[in-house]
Amino acid sequence: MNTRPIIILLTLLACQIPAALAQWDARDYPGSNFDGPAFIFEEVVADIYQARGTGNLMVGSNTAIIVNDDDVVVIDSSISPAAAAALAQELKTITDKPIRYVINTHFHFDHAHGNQVYPADVQIIGHEFTYKMLVDGGSIGRTYGRFTDWMASEPGGAEGQEGLIPTPPNITLTDKLTLYRGAREIQMLFFGRGHTGGDVVVYLPAEKILFPGDLLLESMPFMGDGYPTDWIDTLERLKALDFDTVVPGHGRPFSDRERIGHLQSLLAQLWEKTGESCKQSLSAEQAAEQIDLSDHTTAFPQISGPGVPIATVERHYELRGCEP
Ligand SMILES: [Zn+2]
Repeated sequence: MNTRPIIILLTLLACQIPAALAQWDARDYPGSNFDGPAFIFEEVVADIYQARGTGNLMVGSNTAIIVNDDDVVVIDSSISPAAAAALAQELKTITDKPIRYVINTHFHFDHAHGNQVYPADVQIIGHEFTYKMLVDGGSIGRTYGRFTDWMASEPGGAEGQEGLIPTPPNITLTDKLTLYRGAREIQMLFFGRGHTGGDVVVYLPAEKILFPGDLLLESMPFMGDGYPTDWIDTLERLKALDFDTVVPGHGRPFSDRERIGHLQSLLAQLWEKTGESCKQSLSAEQAAEQIDLSDHTTAFPQISGPGVPIATVERHYELRGCEP
């Protein structure tokens, strides 16, 4: 009897198991010496969760979890390797099924900088634009720079960025990709540019759940990389989907479909106002101070008078070629 192959196999397993476990140990990544859980898991419907940060560790955006018959799909990979590894570890309190797919709704650092912790056999899916941005340094560019001070003020924030290697998807799509996992159908759809040049929404037709990333939030989304006029049209196309629950990239799940229209009218008025500001030769700083969106206070209670983010105005000026 030849036992050699068995010994080799056992040796390989002995080598691989500790390595695999270490891969998911949040304590291995800079910034992960935090106490308590990093995430709270809210069950939206059976086997579908939204994971939100507890505040013990900076995690950036929300993560959504879809538990299938044999595996798990994770939507967005958090802001750092430490946060992504913490998610994978804490997920074990919900399911022992393996994470096989990660979907990046878009390239922003707070949604995609955890990609690097996933082993090579995990399929990371995103739009081709997302791939390009993560490969070309787009996720550590201008927008990332706007948030470094904020990150430094968050638990594990600055440290969590040490050793960061922006890692792109290994599967890309341009318009549509569908995963069939057991009984579940998971659609990834691109309806046009909006919050970024490559926002993928995840849609579960049977469960009537939409995961829009940051394309549709209850609050005002970050607009510094947006395409405001396209965004309005993209949202219009979103209305064709039959969903009753939205699980967004920031904030809690909601069901009010009227939010789509609210965001469309906010985007339209902002575009109009930055156009007027440009005509009046206002600097981006002046425009950011003066633009008043108080018409939208009911739908967006965080608006309490004049003033919009400078990133929004700079982006609009850039798209208009406005140089006052
Ligand atoms: Zn974003």
